[in-house]
Amino acid sequence: MQQSDVLVIGSGIAGCIAAWELAKQGLQVALLSAQPKGDGSNSSFAQGGVAYLGEQDSPDLFARDILEAGAGLCSPKAVQHLVDFGPRYLKELLIDELGVDFDRTHSGDLSLTMEAAHSCCRIIHHKDCTGKAIMQALLKKVESLPNIDFKRGHIAVDLITLSHHSKNLTDLYYPSTCAGAYVFDELRKEVAIHFAKQTILATGGIGEVFLHTTNPKNAYGSGLAMAYRAGARIMNMEYVQFHPTSLYVPNQKRFLLSEALRGEGAELLSWEGKPFMHAYHPSGSLAPRDITAKSIYKQMIYEGAPHLWLDISFKPREWLQGRFPTLYERCFEMGYDLTREPLPIVPAAHYACGGIAVDGEGRTSIQRLFAIGEVACTGVHGANRLASTSLLEGVVWAKRCAEAISSLKKESYYFPPVEGWVMGSKKIDSALIQQDWTSIKQTMWNYVGLERSHERLMRALRILQELKWQIDSFYEKAELTSELLMLRHGIQTALLITEGAFRNKKSLGCHSRVD
Ligand SMILES: Cc1cc2nc3c(=O)[nH]c(=O)nc-3n(C[C@H](O)[C@H](O)[C@H](O)COP(=O)(O)OP(=O)(O)OC[C@H]3O[C@@H](n4cnc5c(N)ncnc54)[C@H](O)[C@@H]3O)c2cc1C
Repeated sequence: MQQSDVLVIGSGIAGCIAAWELAKQGLQVALLSAQPKGDGSNSSFAQGGVAYLGEQDSPDLFARDILEAGAGLCSPKAVQHLVDFGPRYLKELLIDELGVDFDRTHSGDLSLTMEAAHSCCRIIHHKDCTGKAIMQALLKKVESLPNIDFKRGHIAVDLITLSHHSKNLTDLYYPSTCAGAYVFDELRKEVAIHFAKQTILATGGIGEVFLHTTNPKNAYGSGLAMAYRAGARIMNMEYVQFHPTSLYVPNQKRFLLSEALRGEGAELLSWEGKPFMHAYHPSGSLAPRDITAKSIYKQMIYEGAPHLWLDISFKPREWLQGRFPTLYERCFEMGYDLTREPLPIVPAAHYACGGIAVDGEGRTSIQRLFAIGEVACTGVHGANRLASTSLLEGVVWAKRCAEAISSLKKESYYFPPVEGWVMGSKKIDSALIQQDWTSIKQTMWNYVGLERSHERLMRALRILQELKWQIDSFYEKAELTSELLMLRHGIQTALLITEGAFRNKKSLGCHSRVD
């Protein structure tokens, strides 16, 4: 059994900033990362940048852009919160305290760039690998602080709640309350009870439940699955943003190809190598993100093609290598030279606009449980996310959440008597796990992907419910592994997205019903 003041589950930008801020207040923090080594967070994959404030900019103008992208479904209060606190916290934490090496102009000012649907240049960045620069600085910081116990290769299995786990029968009558989590130590193959006065879920995205995704391994929505099982309110799960272009190389992880490529003139080509986008939108390859993603998807179905092409090879080689150094390198590693040939592309699941419902400080509907970052639904993104606002949202809610928790420092907390973990003994058949993942990913891609209908969603529900039943019964008897754990989280996440999409018959933002 272990105990800390705060248990932070997930070590991307949101989890690390929360842990750092709490440690500054003298609290004892345990910070979990599912990755045994290195950094496998979505945060480190971010290429474009973080929205800040431009020269002719104002919080009102920034808020207007976010509200417009969100298609009328954003929480105006949450958006106001983001634009009021965001730039201040970015400056305070990332620029001044951490000294992240954001690109600067010749005169030493922050270099501000433009992105689709922003009214002005307001994005700060580090080359084309902003997330990596931020995460390197953040991880160094959290690893250096003595009151943060950074536990890599530790995966949260389930939240401990008074109503689900207490041996005191009458604890059932408490309001829904979290007291920590069961945590699997991948190296020792053991599950420990980790008690905490406050627990923060910061487990990131959901992309890995789809066949094609820009997200890294471990983006199975595990925080969502745990919160759902504990009885938390989950919302807006149908709003999954798909990125139009990811590099498609069979048996390799998809890799996001920035929209800046099309901004610089790259052209989308059909499977047969012909321009096709003008058949779908007058702006051709420069059509808005959602329309481009859906057009590529439709064209792939029309041609029966596994992927289409994106071509920028007509630009000068030196210019391309200087403008897109990371993209150039990654494509080259995967066997493609973007200065000489078109790149194979598919759309890919990218970002979850919905999640665990939270207030302005990240409080969930369960006491002593907070959620921040992509796993949370703050209301900022509504039905569609404005580019480069999610890192910012992670920073703002992490800081606000840490402040709310610090103010509770002196309160006393009840820890219920709970049962220790009983490990099953049945060995896992990897073939079953692999086949279950194939079924989940294919089902989500084909029936719950860019275009949805009653018929497709009905089929998806039947397949996923049957799979969930199989996985749950297997899980109860099995010897635990990280693969099995993530499969159990993943099937729950897939069902939450599908149920949301099934219930909502109206197309809005990135939820598209063709019926
Ligand atoms: C390719 C790509 C490019 C992007 N570009 C941008 C951009 O330019 N600008 C922008 O604002 N946003 C961008 N985004 C979105 C943004 O990166 C994410 O929304 C954001 O980083 C999420 O941060 P987070 O802290 O919530 O989660 P993450 O950074 O994903 O961190 C989650 C952490 O939780 C851990 N974890 C998961 N489950 C468990 C568990 N059960 N137990 C323990 N640990 C667990 C994971 O290992 C990981 O460390 C991009 C995303 C991708 C994928």
